Amino acid sequence: MKPLFLRGGIVDGRRQDVTIRDGRIHRIAPGLDAGEYEVLDVAGKLVLPGFVESHIHPDKAFIADRTQGLAPGRPTPQTLVAELKKTFTADDIYRRARRVMELAVRHGCTTMRAHVEIDAFVELRGVEALRRLQAELAPVLELRLIAFAQEGIFHDGVTQGLLREALKMGLETLGGCPYMDRDQRAHIDWFFDTAQATGVPLDFHADSSDDPALLTSDYIAEQTIARGMQGRVTLGHLGLLDVLP
Ligand SMILES: [Zn+2]
Repeated sequence: MKPLFLRGGIVDGRRQDVTIRDGRIHRIAPGLDAGEYEVLDVAGKLVLPGFVESHIHPDKAFIADRTQGLAPGRPTPQTLVAELKKTFTADDIYRRARRVMELAVRHGCTTMRAHVEIDAFVELRGVEALRRLQAELAPVLELRLIAFAQEGIFHDGVTQGLLREALKMGLETLGGCPYMDRDQRAHIDWFFDTAQATGVPLDFHADSSDDPALLTSDYIAEQTIARGMQGRVTLGHLGLLDVLP
């Protein structure tokens, strides 16, 4: 990547120059020498580092027009999406996810952590699509992929094997969803055991409920400490009521 010189942008409330090398901010100061850099005049414009999208589900984006939508007495989002997923092809997922990522990049996002659903309904078609996007968009987007068990791991005989297969295909994190299985602790234990056996970090959808019986963040924290995985376990959706998957 060519070194870049941003001239005269607003950084920290005042006009400064910024140099960027290997995709990273190198120096910030007023009156820098442009030297061998490629100069971009951003005088008077606000300069910010690339945005990080830390939690997104691009494989089920842009599908609202395929359902009757949400309303009291109608199926939950999980049920609606589970049914639709059976019809997803890798190309379909690729096109919708690419639309999401192009929008994100155009609005300043340079890093994204995306959950890729893996289960008996969609199998590895999302993995195939997102790996393709990861390679194609690498020059503009650092895309990190999580092998995510949205449907739980104890409802069928294939999801656990598919999750392991997804790691072999290059996904770098395992994503659990304890509230989708009756035995939440067994679900969490399986993810910790598998993460330790394969050397990957974890990301859980947890506490997406105001029902105390469904809260698992304390148990996940205990396991993180007991297994020495501090700094390698992420929790998402905490505190959301039963609205989103
Ligand atoms: Zn989520």
